Amino acid sequence: MGVWRWRTLSSNLAQHQLIETCVICENQKSKGIHLYTSFICSDCEHELIQTDTNDPKYKHFLKQLKKVNTPEIFS
Ligand SMILES: [Zn+2]
Repeated sequence: MGVWRWRTLSSNLAQHQLIETCVICENQKSKGIHLYTSFICSDCEHELIQTDTNDPKYKHFLKQLKKVNTPEIFS
């Protein structure tokens, strides 16, 4: 029981350090790249590279990426 609990705790800690929210799909992923202060998961990075600029999906990506340059500040 004690060992199990420690393992759960330590794996949660490790995940917490690695998992970030992707700016494009808004899912929490552990693998990806950093663009300025934002995070793009490897899935989206891959899709972004493969998507044609004429594809409507590309516009969606750009829209999501715009958030990177214009962070919303609430005060
Ligand atoms: Zn993503």
